Amino acid sequence: MTQDQIDRLAALPVPPGRLLIDGKWEKGEDEPLPVHSPIDGSLLTTVESASAADVARATACARQAFEDGRWSRTSPAQRKAVLLKLADLIDKHALELAVLGVRDNGTEISMALKAEPGSAAQTFRWYAEAIDKVYGEIAPTAANVLALIHREPVGVVAAIVPWNFPLMIGAWKLAPALAAGNSVVLKPAETASLTLLRLAELALEAGLPPGVLNVVTGPGRTTGEALGLSMDVDVMVFTGSGLTGRRLMEYAARSNLKRVYLELGGKSPNIVFADAPDLGVAAKAAANGIFRNSGQVCVAGSRLLVEASVADAFLEALTKATRAMTLGNPLLLSTQIGAVNSPQQLSRNLGFIDTARAEGNDVLTGGARARVDTGGWYMEPTIISGVRPTDRLFREEVFGPVLSVTSFTTEAEALSLANATDYGLASGVWTANLSRAHRMIRGIRAGVVHVNTYGGTDGTVPMGGVRQSGNGHDKSLHALDKYTDLKTAWIAL
Ligand code: NAD
Repeated sequence: MTQDQIDRLAALPVPPGRLLIDGKWEKGEDEPLPVHSPIDGSLLTTVESASAADVARATACARQAFEDGRWSRTSPAQRKAVLLKLADLIDKHALELAVLGVRDNGTEISMALKAEPGSAAQTFRWYAEAIDKVYGEIAPTAANVLALIHREPVGVVAAIVPWNFPLMIGAWKLAPALAAGNSVVLKPAETASLTLLRLAELALEAGLPPGVLNVVTGPGRTTGEALGLSMDVDVMVFTGSGLTGRRLMEYAARSNLKRVYLELGGKSPNIVFADAPDLGVAAKAAANGIFRNSGQVCVAGSRLLVEASVADAFLEALTKATRAMTLGNPLLLSTQIGAVNSPQQLSRNLGFIDTARAEGNDVLTGGARARVDTGGWYMEPTIISGVRPTDRLFREEVFGPVLSVTSFTTEAEALSLANATDYGLASGVWTANLSRAHRMIRGIRAGVVHVNTYGGTDGTVPMGGVRQSGNGHDKSLHALDKYTDLKTAWIAL
């Protein structure tokens, strides 16, 4: 792909986004929401705002589609064919989807291409290929009985997703849910709905029957809440903030006790020991691990813990690597750090810098808004050292390009600092000592531990957190547990 192709796509007008209910594109009852581009703050288009009544229609259609079996009772091989077609269509429209997404959410195009359509196509393909290879079980009971264990779709799945990687995270939910035979109502984030609406259009083109996938756009507090309280939803899957995760659990308790699976944020430690195989490689990986997509990555290595004996040299290499990263227009192929998703997120990020200064932390580089003249929302990659476990920056997730640095002197201290958090999503360990690496893998309380790398990803590997980073896993065959129920059958022989 060339810069010219990107520029041509970026100049196209963006039609208003509609709700998708029962295969038809509809207006919502509430006032549409304006969509501003983070690149320059300009008005890109509008998306509909689904009222509680709109959401009720969408969930009722999803329920009807599930009950009449138009998808739920097709064979796995038939579902596979449709989902493979969808993966092919995503690949065919990859550049269009990536450019649309960047205009909507500000992620740099070089990353968006791989992480958005690239990843979404792979995810649909992977679950399409998997679903006709999942067998039921026969239990080892007494000889006078046959006990069968079936896996059945759960019914109606509601998926509420965030703005940082809408297609990638959307596909992590949609692909296994649809492959298993469920109907879905999807609610994208207010500031990143456009690519998911286009994905739904491609799903219809691929042959997904109308009503099986419905999309309701709108604010979390109205559209999202109505979905959370719906009596028609059997399972709610969510990626986003802990605050919203708590609300969803309340909604479930106040409605029909729907199962709720949460993928929440993190304050992931990236631990550099003096015996790391290559401190230069570790410094570059630490910078990439926090600053790509302006730090709006749930697994970002946002807490650097560095052994005191190498701290000065390491921070010098890290600062150099950070200053070498290109912050710019996210539509340029050369850009490594794009825009912050919204003005609210930018001002939240800057608020963390003010608190860090007030708490006596040192701003080594960055710390300010950038590219103000563009009208867009950009922030300098920021490294802050001298952060103590009691400081706000150590404890709270920024979800922006801000790295907190704390030094340690022993392995035990490193482990204790790593675990001194309410979260448990990801982590990194840099050491050439194999035994130490294994001790850290066992000791760190997190869903993911990277060793001598940061941020590996593959559809074959489950991804999820512990503690206040959530429950349940996306990706791999393990994700199917969320979208299927076990049913046992006893047959007297
Ligand atoms: P958010 O929780 O505000 O929004 C996420 C989604 O929830 C959006 O679609 C929003 O409209 C919806 N929502 C908001 N309030 C709601 C309500 N009351 N009822 C129902 N839905 C509601 O989060 P955000 O700020 O958009 O996203 C950033 C957060 O997501 C960060 O904390 C980040 O770490 C987390 N995140 C986690 C992962 C992961 O895999 N664990 C991945 C990406 C982002």
